Amino acid sequence: MNFCDAHVHALWANEMNRNQEAWRSLLSRGLESAALIVMGHHLMDPKRCLQLIPSEYHQAVDPDFFRCKPLSLQVIRQKVQVPAPIFYLDSRYLTPDTADLKRFALAGYQGLKLLYVPEEDRANGMVGWDNLFGRGKKESEELTASLVEQAAALGWPVILHADLNRYLDFVTALLQSSPKTPFLIPHFGFTRKRMAGLLERFPQCFTDFSSLLPFMLEKPKAYKEFILTHQDRVLFGTDATLGWPQMVEEYLSFTSSLLQGKPALQKVLSGNYKRIHKP
Ligand SMILES: [Zn+2]
Repeated sequence: MNFCDAHVHALWANEMNRNQEAWRSLLSRGLESAALIVMGHHLMDPKRCLQLIPSEYHQAVDPDFFRCKPLSLQVIRQKVQVPAPIFYLDSRYLTPDTADLKRFALAGYQGLKLLYVPEEDRANGMVGWDNLFGRGKKESEELTASLVEQAAALGWPVILHADLNRYLDFVTALLQSSPKTPFLIPHFGFTRKRMAGLLERFPQCFTDFSSLLPFMLEKPKAYKEFILTHQDRVLFGTDATLGWPQMVEEYLSFTSSLLQGKPALQKVLSGNYKRIHKP
């Protein structure tokens, strides 16, 4: 069955040639498209950059990456054979003076990825914008709202990583402010209960289970129930990197067996993705 991955980071730590084989085998398993999250802007300082990348992923990122200028989308496209990539701009290092999205639209970006971390996130080992940039919560909210407003004007979908345990009110306000913009809140918003509330309230809201495989393996029944209940809004997403294609394989096997024989399987693997990313 064909599938699309709604959450892949264009990062790697190894010689990319080694991964070509694995990506080719995903093509033969039916990989049709992927949302590729690209660091189109970063600080020229690996140490500071890593402070906003979950510690679990540090081994998956070549620190030299942050010593050089961001790669163009053309170069990224040549790096790996991901079919029909949708390029999302990873905006985590943007500041008010670099936050004009026009130049990224001109460079070929098609979506906005927000990692909303105004404060320290201890569970994921990220220092937060307040520590990294000395930015207050209000300024973080203003910057984020302006990015969402620009994305809406450009007709871009938004992948909004936000912990709904902490930031439900702000996320609700963003969804209200751009009712026509598709929002994809990954990782089930870190709380299925609050995520369900947003899905019920906002028709343009979607979610994915990227990075949740360890939890889904622990409680497959509960996750299956959530996915079936919200089967028109859940996307297949992994949180793999271009250097870590094996992760996509693991998610695909798990999802296929979890939803085997259900019409929800096709919706989750590709149907819902294509409603956001119209071909
Ligand atoms: Zn991610």
